[in-house]
Amino acid sequence: MEIRKIAGQVHYVPNPVNICVVYTKDSAVLVDSGIDENFARKLCRLLEKPAKFLINTHSHADHCGGNAFLKDKFSVHVLAPEIERQIIESPILEPFYLFGAAPPKELQTKFLMAKPCRVDETLEPGTLTLQDVTLSIVPLAGHSPNQVGVAVDKILFCADALFSKGAIEKYKMFVVYDVKNFLQTLDLLERSKYDFFLPSHGDLTDDITELLNLNRKVVENVSNEILKLLKTPRTFDELLTKLLNGFNIEVKNLVQYVLYRSTVHAYLSYLLDEGHVERDLVASSLLWRVRT
Ligand SMILES: [Zn+2]
Repeated sequence: MEIRKIAGQVHYVPNPVNICVVYTKDSAVLVDSGIDENFARKLCRLLEKPAKFLINTHSHADHCGGNAFLKDKFSVHVLAPEIERQIIESPILEPFYLFGAAPPKELQTKFLMAKPCRVDETLEPGTLTLQDVTLSIVPLAGHSPNQVGVAVDKILFCADALFSKGAIEKYKMFVVYDVKNFLQTLDLLERSKYDFFLPSHGDLTDDITELLNLNRKVVENVSNEILKLLKTPRTFDELLTKLLNGFNIEVKNLVQYVLYRSTVHAYLSYLLDEGHVERDLVASSLLWRVRT
């Protein structure tokens, strides 16, 4: 594990979940804390200055799993956007919303549930000054309810607003909470002017055009495939199985299953609200079909 300089006071730690580090006059501002305590401990050893601030882009456990350790050990001041904040403080909410009720123990793993951590301040989009450094909090909702990115010195740490080619090849259908917002966020990124972009799962890049198109293509393909399958009225379970088979996705455990299920629900919600599909209750069975 190493820390690399991007420009000025902005650094990052390349990792399956990249961490951004911004140095102020006497401290380090961390953006996200990684999967767990073990990672956060190693991360702290790399820092030139003590960690005093921690910004969470969103509440997924791989981005805030190190929070509790950083809070206990260094009393970091934690900042997170609304909704994401509540999940970071009450992490049972993540497996709860994915499962839809009290989640079985199998879903209460570190991949879906970080250790709880108090959040000190709610982040709002706009300017944020921490000591002598001014950051910009950029709204990037879609992948999660209220995800934000962090911009400083023409560098945007864009969290999970878009996924790398490698991640797309691996997962085929990435996690989305709100499809409409996800697409609007891609549009916002397209219009934005930064020298560098750093996604959480991907490489630092000075041009995200190809990635933007690739991410849009995934959303388009999934939507089209759903519309094709729903030419025949189907239950959700039927649709999900056919969709996963069509994309050659083999679900191996319940964690993966609830993530894909939630994502397909996001697409149905979007297609229903946009008027492309409709749903009907027939003999207590919920059927989905394209709108004719
Ligand atoms: Zn995420």
